[in-house]
Order: sequence, then C-alpha cells, then structure tokens
Amino acid sequence: MDKPQRPVPVVNPWAKPFWDAANEERLTYQKCKDCGANIFYPRIACTECFSDNLEWVEASGKGIVYSYTVVENNAPTAFVPECPYVVAIIKLEEGIQMLSNIVGCDPYDVSCDMPVEVVFEKLNDEFKLPKFKPVA
Ligand SMILES: [Zn+2]
Repeated sequence: MDKPQRPVPVVNPWAKPFWDAANEERLTYQKCKDCGANIFYPRIACTECFSDNLEWVEASGKGIVYSYTVVENNAPTAFVPECPYVVAIIKLEEGIQMLSNIVGCDPYDVSCDMPVEVVFEKLNDEFKLPKFKPVA
C-alpha cells in the first residue's frame, strides 16, 4: 500500500497572497485600511467593520502558545508517522491567532505562554507551511 499523502491547503482566491508569501518564507496577514483591525485567516471583508478595503502586511512571526494539545494517536492516517505532535493556537504579537504545529522541541516540553517564532516547512513543490518553534 502506498504511503498516504498529506492533505494540501485549499487556496481560495483571497487567500492566495498568504500562500505566495509563505512560499517566500514570509508570514502575512490582512489589515483593514479603514478601521485598522488585524485579520487572520484570510477574508474578503473586515471582521470588525465589513470593509473590503484590506491590505496584506508582514507579521513579526513572533508570538506565544495560546493553547495546544499533543496528538498521540487516532490521528488522520497521513499524520500517524508524525505522532506524537503538537497542534497549537499561536497568538502573534499582532494579536491575531493561527492554528499550526509546534516543532523543533519535545512535544511534552510545550506549555501555554511559551514564546515561539515562525519557521517554514516544505510540504511539496507548491507549499511551504508556517509552523512555530520555541524561541531559543
Ligand atoms: Zn475594518
């Protein structure tokens, strides 16, 4: 049996700038040019004022672990070889939250409020995925 393929992101037209930037190892998010709200995940309108006057800006890539879990088993088949791994909500310095993985450390060393920074992991020729590692 072939090794199961890991799923790839489904890219909406309004999310394409995010993935293009990620492939250049830049972490970006949207900012509302009318009310200043920081927005993630990619949207077609501001979550605060519904304006579609949005721009893409680059994040610092730094934040903290807001919450997390260690996946030990019962993962979707393609992720079984990764177990145990960490799924976390990262709160960036810019106030937005991203769902990602914590990598580069023992999964059981992760804790809430731990400072982390973005790293990019190549999924295939088309995608680099933003993940986060502990700040040294
Ligand atoms: Zn707005």
